[in-house]
Amino acid sequence: MKKRDFILIGAVLAVALLCWLIPRGLGIFAGEDASQVRITVAGEEYGTYSLSEDQTIEINDTNVCEIQNGEVNMTEADCPDQLCIHQGPIHIQGETIVCLPNRVVLEITGMDTEEQLDGVVQ
Ligand SMILES: [Zn+2]
Repeated sequence: MKKRDFILIGAVLAVALLCWLIPRGLGIFAGEDASQVRITVAGEEYGTYSLSEDQTIEINDTNVCEIQNGEVNMTEADCPDQLCIHQGPIHIQGETIVCLPNRVVLEITGMDTEEQLDGVVQ
């Protein structure tokens, strides 16, 4: 085989690998069914809610967040700065909305992320 043949085979393999990897990569972002929002108040878990279900969640008497179209948005808060409301909706794993005065944290999580974290710990 000539050197050029090796390059050709390498290129074909690279393309094949990309075709295999890209849908998996996109699957992570499209996999909103597996995405959840975890709400913590003052470091204590308040609840975990699926992003695939549109709903309004009242967080104690201080904050209200809304899940709509796979996104979470803080819609009401009694904090003086209102920064959490101005932050806008989140939906990507790892994104957070923090209401500092009320110590409310919304964090997007997914089952995949948790499994990966467990793997790192062990
Ligand atoms: Zn706030």
